[in-house]
Amino acid sequence: QPVLTIKDLKASVEEKQILKGVDLEVKGGEIHVIMGPNGTGKSTLASVLMGSPRYEVDGGSVVLDGENVLDMEVDERARAGLFLGMQYPSEIPGVTNSDFLRTAINTKLGEGNEISLFKFAKKLEDSAQRLEMRKDLPHRYLNEGFSGGEKKRNEILQMLMLEPKIAILDEIDSGLDIDALRIVGTNVTDMIRERGTEMGAIVITHYQRLLDYVKPDFVHVFMNGRIVKTGDMALAERLEKDGYDWLREELGIEF
Ligand code: ADP
Ligand code: MG
Ligand code: MG
Repeated sequence: QPVLTIKDLKASVEEKQILKGVDLEVKGGEIHVIMGPNGTGKSTLASVLMGSPRYEVDGGSVVLDGENVLDMEVDERARAGLFLGMQYPSEIPGVTNSDFLRTAINTKLGEGNEISLFKFAKKLEDSAQRLEMRKDLPHRYLNEGFSGGEKKRNEILQMLMLEPKIAILDEIDSGLDIDALRIVGTNVTDMIRERGTEMGAIVITHYQRLLDYVKPDFVHVFMNGRIVKTGDMALAERLEKDGYDWLREELGIEF
């Protein structure tokens, strides 16, 4: 059972401190949803976990199964089992989606353990089918001319194929119509359930709507650069009904 432990994580961008002491532990089998007002640092947390060079880590620790994640390069983090759905995945000219995935899987498996072409093709077909993807999508150039919804679905395809230990999905619901939202949400939930205790997820979202399909074990509220409250679905429902002001008041947070 993988365990990701984030302790007192502090990070800044351009001298401005954004993360002000994030504490979070995610175990295999668990779905953690992070909600919160805009501009409070949720995407920054995802970027810092991914190892984006734009952010300076000022303190705290991130440990995956006893290994110091903050010491790892971006590709080492992926190999260690972290999956970061990109908020806006980039295009890689001349590389098809399918090539990209096979390379990523084989890099993870290591030399001598490469996935057979047959097994890969089968898995890709199954995964694309689960996501109700257009047949040609896996074979098109990576993200080139993909719509917002297709990019998001593709992000989930990458997750299904790469079988990470801990997946971090930022704003997976932005730009999705209701059908795509259902497909993405149910596939995230199904994958976690199917993999038992082998995989956990952090799902960052603004929208209560996603929680019709993603069933979280924990709901965290992110404000002012840290997690300020943790609960379950009932907390998400209260936020949907009443917004964030009551919580600001309860916690004595100014903005
Ligand atoms: P959220 O995802 O909760 O909406 P973000 O993490 O995107 O919040 O942003 C938190 C704060 O950090 C915002 O004030 C934002 O302007 C700032 N910020 C984030 N990334 C950068 C960056 N690369 N350069 C400058 N400011 C940034
Ligand atoms: Mg934002
Ligand atoms: Mg964000």
